[in-house]
Amino acid sequence: MELTDKLEILADAAKYDASCASSGAPKRHSIGKDGFGATTGMGICHSYTPDGRCVSLLKVLLTNYCLYDCQYCVNRRTSNVPRARFTVAEVVKLTTDFYLRNYIDGLFLSSGIIQSADYTMEQLVQVARELREVHQFRGYIHLKTIPDADPALIAAAGRYADRLSVNIELPTQDSVQKLAPEKSVHTIKLAMGSIRRKLDEKAEEPKSPRFAPAGQSTQMIVGADASDDQQILTTAETLYGSYKLKRVYYSAFSPIPQSPKSVPLAPPPMLREHRLYQADFLLRSYGFQVNELLPATGNLALDIDPKLAWALEHREHFPMDLNRAEPHMIARIPGIGLRNAQRLIDLRRLRQIRYADLSRLRCSMKKISPFIITADYFPSNDAGPSEHLRRAMADAPQQMNLWPELQAA
Ligand code: SF4
Repeated sequence: MELTDKLEILADAAKYDASCASSGAPKRHSIGKDGFGATTGMGICHSYTPDGRCVSLLKVLLTNYCLYDCQYCVNRRTSNVPRARFTVAEVVKLTTDFYLRNYIDGLFLSSGIIQSADYTMEQLVQVARELREVHQFRGYIHLKTIPDADPALIAAAGRYADRLSVNIELPTQDSVQKLAPEKSVHTIKLAMGSIRRKLDEKAEEPKSPRFAPAGQSTQMIVGADASDDQQILTTAETLYGSYKLKRVYYSAFSPIPQSPKSVPLAPPPMLREHRLYQADFLLRSYGFQVNELLPATGNLALDIDPKLAWALEHREHFPMDLNRAEPHMIARIPGIGLRNAQRLIDLRRLRQIRYADLSRLRCSMKKISPFIITADYFPSNDAGPSEHLRRAMADAPQQMNLWPELQAA
């Protein structure tokens, strides 16, 4: 098979993995050194799709042959798709050729499992090793880790890769057992734990060998099982706390041709994935906890963002006086992000905050007005009832149902 044919199959097979964003890579370049390639301060990916996916890595599978039969996966053993396999040398060549033509900033490499977990992991490590040691490649490398692989291989992967990831796949153990019976949540968490230990060792001993400087991440598939957003975010919160993940990525389940009956025929609304990313950002950066965003079982609202939904449920905090509020509460006001919250805190050390300051900071005045008090402003009607505000601020048109006949089936 021609290399371009393999590339067509194996790049298409990799598109379902969302966990390729590369933020967090260290600054590195080849100026004054051997080799070629560079990352920038923000990581190498400058372009993100609206749902947060990075678009500038060569994102391929080493192979889409697989011994496993995960029901949600297009590459599962029983799937009737064209198969291909790259050699190590072919992936190395593609990466260097594409990089030198300025098509890509780095490599995201995953694989179906062939022969054994160790054999597959060895092949992935071999690609990264050749790029780094033979070609002096200094661009970004993200390797997907095979959970059952020998920890020594995972440690070797960390020496060459910027980021490692182990997919948790689904939010609950029951779902993994049902839809990916050859996988085990226990093994997946063991792999995450071994990466975390290596990261901790490196942090304690900066002179110890390099290990995945952009940390580890994972991916959860949304909508392949019956888990609701509360379960998904609770799992994410636990993973952040236990394994110091840089990111949890959420990937809306895509129905695949000849899907098994155990998975849905229709995808979840794309907006659900987007709301999960917004909620995840609130967990990581704003100090929210899952039980604040979702105190009961269920899904996040689709028509308004999770911070606005929280504010409407907690009117006792609003309107909030920007000149007196606790600093951490200012960032909880809908329409005020972290950067503007800090700017307002800095400003009020100098003088009273006035309404015009907020438009100068380009805050969304429609969103912010019902929730704030400034030196010269108080919301006229005490912001009105929550339902009224919710209707006025709903920003998400209902997603059109593209598969009505499937949902009706
Ligand atoms: S291990 Fe499962 S998810 Fe991964 S490629 Fe194989 S079938 Fe797909």
